[in-house]
Amino acid sequence: MTARATKQNRGRVFLVGAGPGASDLITIRGADVLSRAEVVIYDNLVSPELISHAPPNAELIYAGKRGGDSKKSIEQSELNAMLIAHARKGRVVVRLKGGDPFIFGRGGEEAEALARARVEFEVVPGVTSAIAGPAFAGVPLTHREHGSFVAFVTGHEDESKGASAVPWDDLVAATRHGGTLVILMGTARMRATLDRIRAAGLPPETPAVAVQWATTAAQKTVSATLATLADASALEEISAPAVIVVGELAGMRESLKWVERTPLFGRTIVVTRARASASEFATALRRLGAEVVEFPTIETAPPTSHAALDRAIKRVASFDWIIFTSAMGVESFIERLKSRGRDIRGLGRASIAAIGPVTAARLADYALQVAAVPDEYRAENIITAIGIKQIRGKRFLIPRAEVAREALPQILRDKGAKGVVVAPAYRTVKPKGAQIARMSERIASGKIDLVTFTSSSTVTNFCELIGTSGKGLRAAAIGPITAATAEEGGFEVVVKPRKYTIEALTVEIGEYFAKGKGKR
Ligand code: SAH
Repeated sequence: MTARATKQNRGRVFLVGAGPGASDLITIRGADVLSRAEVVIYDNLVSPELISHAPPNAELIYAGKRGGDSKKSIEQSELNAMLIAHARKGRVVVRLKGGDPFIFGRGGEEAEALARARVEFEVVPGVTSAIAGPAFAGVPLTHREHGSFVAFVTGHEDESKGASAVPWDDLVAATRHGGTLVILMGTARMRATLDRIRAAGLPPETPAVAVQWATTAAQKTVSATLATLADASALEEISAPAVIVVGELAGMRESLKWVERTPLFGRTIVVTRARASASEFATALRRLGAEVVEFPTIETAPPTSHAALDRAIKRVASFDWIIFTSAMGVESFIERLKSRGRDIRGLGRASIAAIGPVTAARLADYALQVAAVPDEYRAENIITAIGIKQIRGKRFLIPRAEVAREALPQILRDKGAKGVVVAPAYRTVKPKGAQIARMSERIASGKIDLVTFTSSSTVTNFCELIGTSGKGLRAAAIGPITAATAEEGGFEVVVKPRKYTIEALTVEIGEYFAKGKGKR
């Protein structure tokens, strides 16, 4: 087989369900396929956050809006042709569609076109909004006593225009005996559809719920009856995308609504730390109900030169103290040690100091015990934690970021240290291609409730990337130095945890908004 033929055979299209909106409601398989995509063709309902998880070199193609506004959208036939063409070039194509690809998403048509063209394809199901919408509104779709079936129905078709009609009479007849109707694409014709359902014989007092932008920070839910939902929705300005649920079970929302009770419901929070270390923090915030936008303002890279670190590693046993100032410092020091063929036991008699509990925890991962843990980066605290008697005549190694404050080495020397070696173990860099335009847009539209900062450089990089100050934005800062930088940058720092850890930061963000302080 020629190389070319092999490459061609690799080409395939994955029709992937992106889930209803929250970026973590994609399936594990969907996320895996996305992480290997070479081309991503996505719809407007796909979470932008999710798209930013595609590989940095993947080609991203926006397939545009459907339905109402056809501007800027790609015709279905053109889209099919595009899928086929990319796959034939041997590329891994991910066709990322909102919710589930085979529920009202024309996924069926795309699969047909691929099958006709004999292009290999796979389908990765997604959490459809028809299920997630009711779930996030607190409406079970079936129930042992009150609901034995559920129907997903389009609310887009107009019977009077002779479009292929939904069998409303049959559906309603069945629903009267215990069933639930879930209507998608139903906002534009909501009143007509609900009237039609009443005309078919469903009692006007039947509970009905509309949920817009389900699973996102913009989620809005209206609870009413078949007779009153259209007015209530108009009052609340419910528009697409929304799911309408009609049936006895819609009445369970009153006792089962739960999303609104999560502490960070409706909040959009920006996480600015490096992607590699952001995910735990982002997940913790999502667990509290927030919509998280990851906007990494910092990435780490190897230092410009490893020379100083390598020299220090060679004579590592000669140091009395090794001071780690960040978890990343620990990580890159140990990695370098390993790659030089060294054993951790070579650290010998050196005592270890770690600034902050996170740094200490990372050392503990390597079974390295810490003799001193100052809880913040203030030279004075470090001196106190180590003990002034431990400094005079002693040799210190500080593996840390290439550019860092000079205060610590200087103060150690002033206190009589015999030697202080500062060894750059990594470098922080600003990431390229950060989604700057989208972030600026979100800021301008007032959709950001809080920006979180975990170091001073995340503050300065954020302002530089966006090209503005933090004026009009609220921030949470992990420690006093970061907070001071953020305040200098114009942010209103509303969360300053008592302990300078990600856990404490997360908890206090939750408390801040739970106290109702965060009202926009
Ligand atoms: N394949 C998609 C549906 C595409 S049709 C799925 O499985 O979810 C588009 C319709 O989906 C919208 O008109 C709306 O009714 C519904 N929808 C999609 N995302 C939604 C969301 N986050 N909240 C409420 N409804 C949504």
